[in-house]
Order: sequence, then structure tokens, then C-alpha cells
Amino acid sequence: MLFNRISEFHSTLAFRLTLWYGAVFTVLTSAAFLFFYLMITSSMNQRTDKDLLNQLGEFAAIYNLEGLETLERTAMMESQAAGEEKVFFRLLYPSGLAFSSSNMSYWKDIGVDRKAVNRLVKGQDHVFETVTVGDLKNSVRVIYAIIGKGIVVQLGRSMENDIRILGTFQKLFFTTMTILIITAAVVGWFMAKRALSGVEAVTMTARQISETDLGKRVPVKSNNDEIDQLAVTFNQMLDRIEKLISGIREMSDNIAHDLKSPVTRIRGHAEVTITGKNRMEDYEAMAMGTIEECDMLIDMINTMLFISKTEAGADAIAHDVLDMAQLVQKACELFQPLAEDKNISFQWDLPEPCMIKGDQHLLQRMTANLLDNAFKYTPVSGKVDISVSNDKKNKGDIKIRIEDTGTGISPEDLDLIFNRFYRCDQSRSQSGAGLGLSLARAVATAHGGDIKVRSMPGAGSVFTVSIPA
Ligand code: ADP
Repeated sequence: MLFNRISEFHSTLAFRLTLWYGAVFTVLTSAAFLFFYLMITSSMNQRTDKDLLNQLGEFAAIYNLEGLETLERTAMMESQAAGEEKVFFRLLYPSGLAFSSSNMSYWKDIGVDRKAVNRLVKGQDHVFETVTVGDLKNSVRVIYAIIGKGIVVQLGRSMENDIRILGTFQKLFFTTMTILIITAAVVGWFMAKRALSGVEAVTMTARQISETDLGKRVPVKSNNDEIDQLAVTFNQMLDRIEKLISGIREMSDNIAHDLKSPVTRIRGHAEVTITGKNRMEDYEAMAMGTIEECDMLIDMINTMLFISKTEAGADAIAHDVLDMAQLVQKACELFQPLAEDKNISFQWDLPEPCMIKGDQHLLQRMTANLLDNAFKYTPVSGKVDISVSNDKKNKGDIKIRIEDTGTGISPEDLDLIFNRFYRCDQSRSQSGAGLGLSLARAVATAHGGDIKVRSMPGAGSVFTVSIPA
């Protein structure tokens, strides 16, 4: 249990971000401290070397001007004045043998480096060395040089002070680093948690959403940052899913309803026939009725499949060169008797050939569906007009405009009428399965076009199909 919690905590993004932040901070701060440390060390060493070189110059001048004895005396005095535990000197023969020195009781561990003396003998001007003594807490900077004929000087200077300063610096470094790393971890954790609080809100909302409760939305803080954009996108996705699910629910309700009616009718007819007088004509009538209802069902199922295929682009559509004006003309001629029956004024305006590349059969079905609706939903003595034109302003797109003075469509229904099986409430008394417009739109889309509708309830509707020429 505890182990699970720990491993869950380790895998959180906040923990990993904090870890990264802490690691980068530690590396950069350590690099900065290291840089300062090296700078200080180098400047201390340079200063010590310079002091030693100055001292050596002084010894050489004394030796050359006043001789060996004065040099020995002066060197002794200077070492006593500076502190015998801080500086020392030895005067050596080129063989490395010492013949004079300051009080060496503090410097017993430091001998003469014959190799350094040999390098002088071979012509090198001076040789520097750093020698660690005793318990490693102290180091000595030593210089070897020839100051006159046959006289080698070994001069040493304790680096104890420098080491103490560097030690203090190191302690300061570790204390400061510990405090800084803890602060960085706390600040990093706080920042990561704050930055990810929006993500947590999205996760919480996603968890709360169930199939039945799609209404929840992630709160948007209007900071317009990445998290806000995530929340907005997530909410938009939920809107789409909600719409889709309600569409699917509505569609399945409609399918169930539309399948139930003919099946109930077939069953009712069969029941009445069986329980009736068992006459041959009744059975024949029942069979005819069943065939009719089945044809209707098959037609509905075929139309559904056809829409799905057209929408999915499963069957590539034909690209015949055809005149849309001529195609509409033929459709109008077919609908003319219906217009006369219903005493509807029917006019078509097809002034010029409108050539497109398309599927004749599909375009015929689309036109027929739109005209069928116009006549179906326009009452007696109404008006239906259809026109086909080249939309010169719009790359020569072909426009088919069907206008009627029918029942019209309410604004709430306008967005839904192209959905499969959707039928407006006032149209339920009319025949139809709610597939005509879905099919029309699928055909227009398959030709790279679109259908738009404007309508005023009680006044009529205008359907406009645009298809690229
Ligand atoms: P159907 O006509 O079989 O019901 P459609 O998909 O062709 O199905 O149309 C969907 C709905 O849109 C119709 O039920 C009707 O309510 C509405 N509709 C379509 N065309 C018109 C129109 N010209 N006038 C009024 N309402 C229309």
C-alpha cells in the first residue's frame, strides 16, 4: 500500500519536474561555486608565487652586492620577523647539499628536491613546487633558484592561511548549497504543483464524467496560458462528444421508431388475416402488403447504406461531364404533374448550360429529394421555384436554388434536418424516413460542394446547393 503510494508519487509529473529543476539548479550553482573556488585558488597561488619571486630577487641582490654572510644574516632575520613557522630558507650547493638554513624545526618533513636542483643546474631559471606536509592540512609553496655562482636558494612559504580561507569557503559552499537545494526543491515543487493544477482539474473532470453525465466542464481561468488552452480544447471535445452521443441516441430512437411502425403493421395485417375468414384473397392481400412494407424497409436500409458509403467515400463517384441545367430540367418535367395535382405554381429558370463533372445518378437523386421535399411541405396553392446558374463571383460554382412557400423550418431544427432520420415534429404526418436531406448533403459533399438552407416558419424555405464547376 505504502509502496504503491510512493511509486505513484515518484511517477507524478510534479515530482519529475521538481527533480529536474533541483538537479539543474544544483549543477548550475555547483558550477558557479567551483568557478569562484578555482579563481580564488589561482589568484592566491599567483600572489604567493609573486611574493616568493620578489623575495628571491631581494636575496640575489644582497648576495651579489654584499656577499654570502650578509645574505645568511638578512635571510635569518627576515624568517624570524615573518615567523619561523610561516617561512623558511635553505642555501644549497648545486649538489643539493644544504650549508645554511633558517630554523627548520617546523619544516622537518621538507627535504631538498634533487630533481628540481638538477633542472636549475641544466639552466632553468627557477622551479616551483607545492609540498603537502604532515596531516595534509598544510601545504607549502617552495621555490628553487640559483642566485649566484654555486649558490642555490630554496625558499618556502606556508599556505596555511590560504588553506584556511579556502576551507571556510568550502564550508560556506556546503551550507549555502544545502539551504539552496532545499529551497529550490520546495519552490520547484510549489511551482510544478501550481502549473499542473489545471491538468489536475482536467483529470478530475474526466474522472467525474460518465456516459450519463457528459454535462461537466473543466473550469477555465482565463489566463490564456497552455493549461487554459488545454481546458478549452478539452471542453470543446466534450461538447462534440455530447452532441455526437445525443445524435446517436436520437438516431437510434428514430431508427427504432421507423422500423417499428412497418413491422407492427405487417404483424397486425398477418394477425387479422389469420383470425379472419381464411379466404384466399385475404392471404393474397396480406402478402402484397408485406411485400410493399418490406420494399419500403429495404429502400430505407439501402438509402442508409448508400449515405454511409457516400460519406465515407467507399465507392468512388463517377466523373461524367454533364449539364446540370439539363439534369434539373428532366427532374422538373417529372414533378410537373405533381405540381398540377396540388395546384402549386412551379417555375424553373435554367437559362444556360451549367457543365460539371459528376455522378449523374447521385445528382438526380439529390435534385429529386430536394424537389420532393419542396412539394411535400408546400400546401395547396403554394409556389415552388428552381433555378440553376453559374456563380461567376464564386469561381464559377454551379448553384441550384430551390425555393418554396411551404411550412418552413424553425431555427432550432435548421441545424438538425441534415441528420439521418431527423424529422421536424410538424412533418411527422407526411410520408418519409428523414433520410432525404442526409442523402442530398452526402451527394453534394462527395462532389466537393455543400447545401445551405434559409427558412422562415410559415413562410417557406430556400435550399441552395453549390457544386464546384
Ligand atoms: P423526410 O422529408 O423524409 O422527412 P428529409 O431528410 O428530406 O426527410 O427532411 C428532414 C426534415 O426536414 C423533414 O422531416 C422536414 O421536417 C424538414 N424539411 C425538409 N425540407 C423541407 C422543406 N422544403 N420545407 C419544410 N421543411 C422541410
